[in-house]
Amino acid sequence: MSVPQNPAPERQLIDRFGRVHNNLRISVTDRCNARCFYCMPADNVPFMPRDELLSFEEIERVVRIGTTLGIDRVRLTGGEPLVRRELHRLVERLVRVPGIVDIGLTTNGVLLGEQAQQLKDAGLKRLNISLDALDPVIFQRVTRRDSYDKVIEGIAAARAAGFSPIKLNAVSVKGLTEDQILPFAELARETDTEVRFIEFMPLDADNQWGRDKVLFAHEIIPILQAEFGPLEPVPSANPNAPANDFRFADGKGKIGMIASVSQPFCSTCNRFRVTAEGRLRNCLFSLEETDIRGLLRNGEADAEIADAMVSCITAKTEGHQINSVQFVQPDRPMSSIGG
Ligand code: SAM
Ligand code: SF4
Repeated sequence: MSVPQNPAPERQLIDRFGRVHNNLRISVTDRCNARCFYCMPADNVPFMPRDELLSFEEIERVVRIGTTLGIDRVRLTGGEPLVRRELHRLVERLVRVPGIVDIGLTTNGVLLGEQAQQLKDAGLKRLNISLDALDPVIFQRVTRRDSYDKVIEGIAAARAAGFSPIKLNAVSVKGLTEDQILPFAELARETDTEVRFIEFMPLDADNQWGRDKVLFAHEIIPILQAEFGPLEPVPSANPNAPANDFRFADGKGKIGMIASVSQPFCSTCNRFRVTAEGRLRNCLFSLEETDIRGLLRNGEADAEIADAMVSCITAKTEGHQINSVQFVQPDRPMSSIGG
């Protein structure tokens, strides 16, 4: 008789609003080879000392403990996860953790040319590549780096390694990325590429975010419809997916909207986060964190760490307050939280 791969968890990460958390997003570094203006300061970035980052062994332990609480999928992020040395070794470790059924990675693609095949061979299942512009000049203005060609090379390497479909995430910024909408739609229609537009969220380092800088999903849709005709909503197979997907009426291609600001999906959120230096966060926008690196390094038992995870989820609030006057932006930017 075969042994079930994913045994029933002893406890679950259920918050006060009944949301069950099975999705752990792990930041492996706060460093990055880009400087996107919505995520990081332009220079003088105060990076964490390397010995403060969780080691691969520590991350694996966190994931193992997470599986006893119902975590069954993991996404690696950062900072730029591919600047963490030997990242494929971490993927290899996590693939072997009983109960983990899916491992994903979000990357800016700059180093994928060198690493896509290694990651695929290590067992990485899903890859999201962030690319906000198909125009190299706009790309440079967003990332403050000149690595457009490397990203295109990285996307080709990901395709060649067998990642399919290729998923691109594009942050939408008013006054900057409007002209990129139709080229991205063409790409989605003509190639095996899923493009998702993400509303710019208040997680920048310079506190320059404002509603007037968000290119909203409800502004993007009419631009697409004027060119390609009606967009039809595609029912999502996954009730926790943040994207609303649409199909073009002529059946060619699909496009997604992550309307985090205008249509928050907090009520179905199943995400739990751990920062590169081992702090649990129950929300991108939370103002409080739970340090588990101390517990890991002080020889505490798994049960203590599991309790810390449960307490962190219990404290989760109903939703982010971006649309309220009470909103307070977290004091660390997206790159150091882990997107
Ligand atoms: N460096 C990797 C990358 O760029 O894909 C992984 C980390 S990045 C923080 C993860 C995702 O968050 C990217 O798709 C990025 O575009 C998105 N992101 C960063 N700051 C954002 C913001 N202020 N609003 C919306 N999305 C943001
Ligand atoms: Fe780096 Fe990704 Fe943030 Fe851009 S979005 S600065 S690539 S971590």
